[in-house]
Amino acid sequence: MADPMYWNPVLETLPREKIRRLQLKKFRKIFQWAYDHSKFHRKLYNDAGIKPDDIRSFEDICRIPTVEKSMMRDIQGKDPFPYGDALCVPLEEVTIFRQTSGTTGQPVYQPDTWQDWEWWMECWSYILWAQGYRPRDRVFIPFGYNIFVAFWAGHYAAEKIGCEVIPGGVLDTKARILKIQELQATAMMGTPTYILGMAETARAKMDIDPSQLTINKITCAGECGASIPSTKKRLEDAWNAKVYDHAGATEIGAWSFECTAQPGGMHVNEALFLVEIEDIETGEIIEEPGHRGKMIITALDRQAQPCVRFDSKDVIEWAAEPCACGRSARLIKGGVVGRADDITKVKGVLLAPSAIEEVVRSVDGLGDEYEVIVDKVGDAERIQLKVEVLAEAQDQCRLIESELADQLRLKTNLRYDIEICGCDTLPRYEVKAKRFKDLRKPKAEK
Ligand SMILES: [Zn+2]
Repeated sequence: MADPMYWNPVLETLPREKIRRLQLKKFRKIFQWAYDHSKFHRKLYNDAGIKPDDIRSFEDICRIPTVEKSMMRDIQGKDPFPYGDALCVPLEEVTIFRQTSGTTGQPVYQPDTWQDWEWWMECWSYILWAQGYRPRDRVFIPFGYNIFVAFWAGHYAAEKIGCEVIPGGVLDTKARILKIQELQATAMMGTPTYILGMAETARAKMDIDPSQLTINKITCAGECGASIPSTKKRLEDAWNAKVYDHAGATEIGAWSFECTAQPGGMHVNEALFLVEIEDIETGEIIEEPGHRGKMIITALDRQAQPCVRFDSKDVIEWAAEPCACGRSARLIKGGVVGRADDITKVKGVLLAPSAIEEVVRSVDGLGDEYEVIVDKVGDAERIQLKVEVLAEAQDQCRLIESELADQLRLKTNLRYDIEICGCDTLPRYEVKAKRFKDLRKPKAEK
């Protein structure tokens, strides 16, 4: 018998009006829960003059104040220690501590109960099933299991749907590649940076061609890369595998996924999350496709430290077309295209770092790594771009540099000082890369 196509055939094909009705019902419930059980949320909503009974429509939801990451930082360390008063359950019900990676400042603590953890696994089960994971898969997890949630729930969801999981934990990159080869693993998960780095290690240091290994699908998360067409192509070519994107966050949950139809974007798991897109300048909620804004998200079922209208700063836009896979949950076009914090004006032009990545990874002869430094020389702003030319393309440096400059001008409307570096000289990253540095002071207006 053919595999069922959906992890949850009812929720994943629910007609739009029923999804919306379900979201409203669940939103009201989680809002009431947060209001009743967390002093932090109650004060926030009381100060805004909003009570749970006032929420009757999506228009009412738009008026509820958002929660910023900095607000969560301010309460942590206080009672109940160490989470502070956004905690909605007694401390003895908390079963796991996690924290954010701290890429945008002091890490935020995140408690979960066992029920929340089962919810994490359920969210990830939708993702993996939609990406073609089935019980016959042998899934290798090349991830240092630690205080970051990262691929923990991916691991347990793979077990839950019946896959065989190989925890690649503290093994180094070479040992991980050998294990994949030895056990003929069929799937794995990682950041695009790390998965590209693994391929480079296999080829350059082990004389193993990763495209000849048995991996046939890879779930990427933690960075935008798997939704950037040129990066996705590099990943797929390197491993001869399908590469799928997923975006999630410690404070939110696993809210989105690309499916096997690879529609050029990701589904929002709308039965479990409410995603609103807010215009960065006007604060209006954007309903139509084609307009980018920042994501305001609610996890509709998360309880210990609820995520209610969290201002994620992720920049997204709705896609116009439904997906060929038949899921009714809306798609966001091109995945998460950046962070509101990172999209910045240089020489008066709006620049998203992901646009630079798309160009660099589309030019033949360039290595996977690059570095962007924005700074000021006197009054003039300057963008330096450092790239590596592959050993076999060294004699074409000039040609590569001019193609890169042309493409960058075309795609970003900006001029760059390009520096060609030797192979293997730019920093390599184990998890999330930090390739974009803005050294202008005082900080430019955003
Ligand atoms: Zn789809």
